[in-house]
Amino acid sequence: MSSETIHIFRYDLRLMDNPALSRAAEQGPVRAIYICPDLPELPKFQFDDPGQTDAYGGASRIWLHHALASLDKSIGGRLSLFTGDRASVLTALCTANNISHITITKSYLGHEQAEDEALAAILADQNITLEIISGHLLWEPEEITKADGTPYRVFTPFYRRGCLSAAPPRTPLATVTEQHFGPAFEQSVSLSSLKLMPEARWADELARSWDISESGAHETAERFFSSDQAHGLSDYAEGRNMPAQLSTSRLSPYLKFGQISVNRLWYLTQENALHPSENTDVFLSELGWREFSYSLLYQNPTLRDEPIQAKFSAFDWEDKPEHLDAWKRGMTGYPIVDAGMRELYQTGYMHNRLRMIVGSFLVKNLLLDWRDGEAWFWDCLFDADPASNRAGWQWIAGCGADAAPYFRVFNPITQGQKFDPDGRYTRKFVPELARLPHKYLFSPFDAPPEVLRDAGIQLGRTYPRPLVDVKQSRLRALDRFAALSA
Ligand code: FAD
Repeated sequence: MSSETIHIFRYDLRLMDNPALSRAAEQGPVRAIYICPDLPELPKFQFDDPGQTDAYGGASRIWLHHALASLDKSIGGRLSLFTGDRASVLTALCTANNISHITITKSYLGHEQAEDEALAAILADQNITLEIISGHLLWEPEEITKADGTPYRVFTPFYRRGCLSAAPPRTPLATVTEQHFGPAFEQSVSLSSLKLMPEARWADELARSWDISESGAHETAERFFSSDQAHGLSDYAEGRNMPAQLSTSRLSPYLKFGQISVNRLWYLTQENALHPSENTDVFLSELGWREFSYSLLYQNPTLRDEPIQAKFSAFDWEDKPEHLDAWKRGMTGYPIVDAGMRELYQTGYMHNRLRMIVGSFLVKNLLLDWRDGEAWFWDCLFDADPASNRAGWQWIAGCGADAAPYFRVFNPITQGQKFDPDGRYTRKFVPELARLPHKYLFSPFDAPPEVLRDAGIQLGRTYPRPLVDVKQSRLRALDRFAALSA
């Protein structure tokens, strides 16, 4: 038997602090592979219905393409790529090369766990061991439970009594260097044959503002932790609500694809801890929200489609495809909502404050089904995450475990005034309103005709009139949600 081990990269596209990869490297040379799941054809136009896939949305595919290219480069071109049935691919590789050991990082998606177990059983029949090793979370979801063994449903006790009282997370492991890798397999297919990149120019534009590599992840973390920067960990507690500032880490896509480990981030935060410690504590608790989302996904494998609170299955959502389309395109007539939606499809990212504002607008003011919002985010976000996206949308819709109460409806006018106080963010993404005086920036429909004219705006032509009246639609939502709660 060969001393080589195959490591299957999946959501762990990194060399630093990768427990499954380190385990492989302990045994001898590592043969690095990625097996691409079956993906549906990409739609020709960005706003076409993407269809729904659990594997990757459109933006995630673009990220994956670049992430695989950079991983391959960092190990001297020795990453092998495959498509098709995993059992057949692995059996053929192991048989031809006398390999009997494979490692992979554990998934927390119910169907992937079942597939991994089935794969391990098939391989075991051929005396090949598939080792499934944790590396994506700080704590295992099944370990964080209440004293009676039932799962937490509310974030604060989950994090404070559950996570923070449990054993500290694993400390980071050393980098597996290029020298540990054996050659690529001859049968490897080309990256372009995986067809991850859409043909539209959108893909190039989207990727331009990100360094999609493991080193890009570390530079992004360094910038965030650097005390020389005006914004970052040093002003996180307050600044994280301000979308025009770079106060949040923007590490979410790197965490999603495992280009930086959450354990490393946890300990880096402690090393860079600030006094007073509010910024540090709040940031660590956001990593706690990621754990909580995975715990919810683990307890509720159907989180994408089914509300955690079963009574919401009967909710009477509106059927207005034209409203959904206007929301997707950032043409609702509410500038802060439109800025958020345009940030999403222009950059593959949306600031957390905006995710809450646009989500509330879709679900409460337009009364459209949260699952439509989830699907659009899934397709457009680089960080589209099976746990955080679904838990986030259920929270917004009020149907999740620890959800926003139904009567909390974000007002898009006051939210804009409060969180984009100088209008920088809104003017950047809604440039047709750039010349509008600040007083009317978040409600152009209130501006007198001469003010609109001087700003070069024709409502209904250069910028849309509001889809709904924000006050009336709020009352309509309260009625409909209250009826459900009764
Ligand atoms: P930072 O503020 O720097 O936070 C650091 C990290 O903590 C993030 O990268 C993320 O991993 C984690 N985190 C922060 N806030 C949350 C949260 N509320 N829930 C779970 N994890 C959190 N996050 C995703 O990673 N993927 C998604 O698909 C996703 N969809 C969302 C959908 C909705 C409707 C909402 C309301 C939130 C969603 N979030 C999602 C959570 C949050 O908006 C993003 O994690 C955050 O905006 C990413 O930016 P950042 O890396 O600068 O965050």
